[in-house]
Amino acid sequence: VCRVHTKSRQRPRVDQTKMFKATRILRQVADFRSPVTGFVGAIGNTPLVRIKGLSKETGCDIYAKAEWMNPGGSVKDRAALFVVKDAEERGLIKPGGTVVEGTAGNTGIGLAHVCRDKGYKCVIFMPNTQSQEKVDLLRMLGAEVYPVPAVAFENPQNYNHQARRFAEERENAVWTNQFDNIANRRAHIETTGPEIWTQTKGEIDGFTCATGTGGTLAGITRYLKEKSEGRVKVFLADPPGSCLYSYVKSGGKSTERSGGSITEGIGQGRVTDNMAQDIGLIDDALSIPDEKTIEMVYRLLDEEGLYVGASSALNVVAAYEMARQMGPGKKIVTIICDGAYRYQTRLFSKKSTPCWTKKEGVSRAIAVEGHIKIIY
Ligand code: PMP
Repeated sequence: VCRVHTKSRQRPRVDQTKMFKATRILRQVADFRSPVTGFVGAIGNTPLVRIKGLSKETGCDIYAKAEWMNPGGSVKDRAALFVVKDAEERGLIKPGGTVVEGTAGNTGIGLAHVCRDKGYKCVIFMPNTQSQEKVDLLRMLGAEVYPVPAVAFENPQNYNHQARRFAEERENAVWTNQFDNIANRRAHIETTGPEIWTQTKGEIDGFTCATGTGGTLAGITRYLKEKSEGRVKVFLADPPGSCLYSYVKSGGKSTERSGGSITEGIGQGRVTDNMAQDIGLIDDALSIPDEKTIEMVYRLLDEEGLYVGASSALNVVAAYEMARQMGPGKKIVTIICDGAYRYQTRLFSKKSTPCWTKKEGVSRAIAVEGHIKIIY
């Protein structure tokens, strides 16, 4: 690869640029091939995918971190591992113990895997508004699942409080508390942030994503801001019904929220402990309507072959808006949180939402106040 033959009698000369490139590729391959141990060893080091259509349209490089490639299928595998390790390090759980968590599902799926790997029992409380696929998968993985009514955090019956009480009432059980346990944010300071920095060779101009617990956004923001000495711009992306858009826009004075959203796992009614320390570092916020999110779900499938969940599509819409605001030539990164496989009945079922493909000229789905509506 590295030799350049000049005139026939001359000795082959080594092309330095090509050699560096080859060495880098070999190193990547070597890293990729090093063996890892069990489920937990396979978490992280996900690829960065260039979204070619939107990059061309904006004149920017829009990249998305392929978090569906984590072994449990979502970005939350990282947090799941870190909160369990944290509980172990703090002596809150002993061998054979029980991990209890309140979750929209993905953290639960990550935890169910981690618990199997480490020999713990896993108990999950989740709002009954979440997709059936996630509940089914959790049960397949051996978790005990309690779907509970979706009530606000202030209500004692909220899934998080139920999870806390369940753990408190049992021996050798820990409530990992992903919303306010900053071990969650640490997962992204120590893994996702450095991966993005390395994969872009530090040439990143903007980062954006939505928040559930806030661990992903806060951790990555903290790392990128420190590494770039504040140069990298960060926008928070928010679905309808969440308060963080108005919180950032008002400089922390308002937590106004209204409407509902078809998205799962994102949107917040409060500033969690994971967000609290870093929300001041966020430069701006974008509110993304469901119509745009759903359109992007289908567009990513149609144009890029990417089959992603709604929160990921919302993130890509935000990256697109950020690129438009920052202007051509910028490198913007966002997160593909998970794949669409766990939302098929909600987002792609022929019964409720005939899959939109331009080729077949089939109907097109849009979201209106948290419900899918078909446009013919
Ligand atoms: N997208 C999906 C699909 C999720 O399940 C979650 C976590 N609930 C997020 C995004 C948000 O991640 P975080 O909790 O780190 O803010």
